[in-house]
Amino acid sequence: YDDRDGFIWLDGKLVPWREANVHVLTHALHYASSVFEGVRAYDGHIFEADWHSRRLRESAAMLGFDLPWSIEQITAACYETLKANDLKDAYVRPVAWRGSEQMGVSAQKTKPHMAIACWYWGTYLDPGAGGLKLDIAPWRRPAPFTAPVQAKAAGLYMIATMSKHHAEARGFQDALMFDYRGQVAEATGANAFFIKDGVIHTPTPDCFLNGITRQTVIKLARRRGIEVIERAIWPEELEGFEQFFLTGSAAEIVPVGSAGPWSFQVGEMTRQIQKDYSDLVRGKLTL
Ligand code: PMP
Repeated sequence: YDDRDGFIWLDGKLVPWREANVHVLTHALHYASSVFEGVRAYDGHIFEADWHSRRLRESAAMLGFDLPWSIEQITAACYETLKANDLKDAYVRPVAWRGSEQMGVSAQKTKPHMAIACWYWGTYLDPGAGGLKLDIAPWRRPAPFTAPVQAKAAGLYMIATMSKHHAEARGFQDALMFDYRGQVAEATGANAFFIKDGVIHTPTPDCFLNGITRQTVIKLARRRGIEVIERAIWPEELEGFEQFFLTGSAAEIVPVGSAGPWSFQVGEMTRQIQKDYSDLVRGKLTL
């Protein structure tokens, strides 16, 4: 992704895409002191921009470093980057990390850095007609006492990439991850929702990201009078669910056709939530 035209916002300045580089002794590269966001702009409007900017600051704070940019400054920088690249429908990727001022586990003297890139990114996960085919991940989401599970921290994506590669090698598109207790958690980059008898069930986000899309979908469903239950979900229950969909800023709302041995239909309620979400992000519906 480094050899492209365009501009990337780096520590307060727009720099040519190919010149947005860091030193190899960047702390983040060695010790995963890096946090990021995944954001989408629709028709020039960033969906929940301030919410994402706040989460970036909070993720950094959870890893122990404070960003010198306010929520408003981060949001403004995202818009500035979109404009510089002449993009209206785009994926926006803010990333913040500890720099190369100090080497070793201790990083007290490192400086916080931030970059924002954006590019056109169509469908992140293509469900085809029958829904996504998910593998069951060999890795489990860690406990809240093992990792900062609410941070969108780069380090937490090590097991996501390994699970995704494992799934791809076996002919699947993505993987459903269980958590340290064995409960159903989420996919490698999106939250999970299940439907049975007209009721939506979704795992309680106590060891994975409580996604912005997830929280939005819960509101959209309740607005339609659909009951949404957040609770512990065990793999044995997967057999009984009729529909299954994933949610995420990049993924949006994606129906799942199968996860391991369990299969699901792409049903009406999933389609309705998909349409409501698409109307919401494009300003055709307000919550
Ligand atoms: N879980 C993981 C691991 C993710 O990477 C994402 C995408 N950011 C989500 C859930 C969904 O979060 P959001 O809806 O805020 O994009």
